[in-house]
Amino acid sequence: MTKFLNDKFKSIAPYNTGGDIVPEGCIRLNTNENPYPPSPLALKRIQEIAQDMNYYCDPDCKKLAQKSSEIFRISPDEILFGNGSDEILNFLFAAMCQNGAAFPDITYSFYKVLAEFHGVDVKIIPLKNFKIIPEDYFNLNSRTAFITNPNAPTGLALAIDDIKNILEHNPESLIVIDEAYVDFGASSCVDLIHEYNNLVIVRTFSKSRSLAGGRLGFCMACKDLIQDLKNIKNSLAPYNINALTQAAGLGILEDEEYTRKNINEICKAREFTKNELEKTGFNVLDSLTNFLFVRHEKFSGEFIFKELIKHKILIRHFNKPEIISDYNRITIGTPEQMILLLEALKNALR
Ligand code: PMP
Repeated sequence: MTKFLNDKFKSIAPYNTGGDIVPEGCIRLNTNENPYPPSPLALKRIQEIAQDMNYYCDPDCKKLAQKSSEIFRISPDEILFGNGSDEILNFLFAAMCQNGAAFPDITYSFYKVLAEFHGVDVKIIPLKNFKIIPEDYFNLNSRTAFITNPNAPTGLALAIDDIKNILEHNPESLIVIDEAYVDFGASSCVDLIHEYNNLVIVRTFSKSRSLAGGRLGFCMACKDLIQDLKNIKNSLAPYNINALTQAAGLGILEDEEYTRKNINEICKAREFTKNELEKTGFNVLDSLTNFLFVRHEKFSGEFIFKELIKHKILIRHFNKPEIISDYNRITIGTPEQMILLLEALKNALR
């Protein structure tokens, strides 16, 4: 650490992506990426735009906003794009958590990192039986709530009525619903942005739309909230979405059929894998996402994680918090990858 680093950052604990050690040739089932490449139309759009890269990209992502407005049934001024949804979350923690934040003990761990970075006071609300209990969020006292729905790494979802209830009990709180995994079977509450001016929906192209490496996320909210967030974005990173990523995003949105087909495949592979894992002695939570949260009756989470690495398969093991240290999170890959996973597990646990 150098003498130039501000004192306030000397004790920060950066986010662990879990992807820092990817041995060559490994099957990557550790970061909930999509196993299928982006739509061919995305690649075509990238090629078309590549020669214009001597110009700055559109800071307002107008084409993306227009196309998204058709797909998500919102107006173009109700959406803002981020360099991954992580950047949107960064804007929210930086600018909209004046009265503190609240989120579950077990959820996307980046929330905690961002809260610490921005000096936001946090109220941690424990899950009960791995579930988010809506009543626990009825009295937020103006804190901003961050709720991943479906939650990660559990894969369990709240119903829209539960979210409505939370919104109605907290007119003074901003409620952020992170729908990173919503396309894999849960219901989006995007329609509610027209009813509630304290709701922000955060979404990403990294999961159902196969663009994790392109870094494209977005949020949808009433137009006043979006304008506030745009002001933050334009103060920190006006050209936050590069031209290639804007082009790729557009191509992906023009090919919704491709996205839907891949989602279908992944959901089928998820149910197959869940069934097979249960036959092998695993406890598997019901999942409405592209991953499974699993625990074996006899073997520790760490043991299984290490055994799979020997078979060149990477899954996500959490050693913290303690109550999930015997669980692992397994991303759903192609059917072929799932078969290799199941075979490796059978060998390892023999
Ligand atoms: N929210 C949740 C719940 C996530 O799991 C992730 C990625 N793992 C993100 C947001 C961030 O996704 P991205 O920055 O790739 O859009």
